[in-house]
Amino acid sequence: MSAKILDGKALAHSIRQTIKKRVEERKSTGQRAPGLAVILVGDDPASEIYVRNKRKACDEVGFVSRSFDLPASTSEAELLALIRDLNADQAIDGILVQSPLPAHIDEETVIETIQTDKDVDGFHPYNIGRLAVRKPVLRSCTPKGVMRLLETTGIDLHGKEAVIVGASNIVGRPMALELLLAGATVTVTHRFTRDLEAHVRRAEVLVVAVGKPGIVRGEWIRPGAIVIDVGINRLPEGRLVGDVDFDAASQRAAAITPVPGGVGPMTIAMLLENTLEAAARH
Ligand code: NAD
Repeated sequence: MSAKILDGKALAHSIRQTIKKRVEERKSTGQRAPGLAVILVGDDPASEIYVRNKRKACDEVGFVSRSFDLPASTSEAELLALIRDLNADQAIDGILVQSPLPAHIDEETVIETIQTDKDVDGFHPYNIGRLAVRKPVLRSCTPKGVMRLLETTGIDLHGKEAVIVGASNIVGRPMALELLLAGATVTVTHRFTRDLEAHVRRAEVLVVAVGKPGIVRGEWIRPGAIVIDVGINRLPEGRLVGDVDFDAASQRAAAITPVPGGVGPMTIAMLLENTLEAAARH
């Protein structure tokens, strides 16, 4: 069997086109364009690329993107003051603070300072809590993007064995809440899990977000499974790969995401969608 490739790049493109039309409609009725503030602290090269892509995506759909590139020496108090200003700014619907932050800034404090209705990353405990009680408002972008990709497969998630590898605040945990909300039977595995292979072998839907190339071996994939690889790893020779052994896994899976071109573009599309939703509510 050769798996269907879940083309996140194409799906994200069509979502961005829809968002662009909605922005034009807003403007034609005299409403302002949605505004996203993107804050980068320090000069982490990977973060610079992510931020550049997010700002470019904003411009392409007609949002107003406001950029704040702050030096690594920025104090926590200065960053919090900027966030408070943006919370009060009527032209700003979403506030994104790129992680990782320098060690002297507490990430939790920063996230919790963002007004919940401008938390377009969906990382604030309020938004995670709303998802946990089945009343999601702004949903974490990567898990939300994964749900969209799963929708394209036509799978009915009710009662399905869903296994998540990785339990981070930004991917694994909200992913578990999304799949639970969709009616799947969810297992979350993490660094203390004893027999990862046994869990993966049971999965009808597998979502992997660890950051270790090849951590999931192709022969572990249950025949006919849907495999979503969130991992992004750069090999020494420069190539980008996911966490799943793609070639072997695609011989067994019914559908699989490629890396790059799978989950990554969907994350950005969901950031735009969240910002548009926030603007519609403001
Ligand atoms: P993280 O380091 O915060 O979390 C990694 C998780 O993997 C932890 O919960 C840890 O317990 C678990 N883990 C480690 N070793 C394990 C093992 N042997 N077995 C099972 N679980 C194990 O990472 P993160 O921020 O969640 O990111 C994970 C990966 O996803 C990274 O490669 C990151 O670049 C990528 N990512 C991609 C997107 C995207 O849009 N495509 C978004 C966010 C993160």
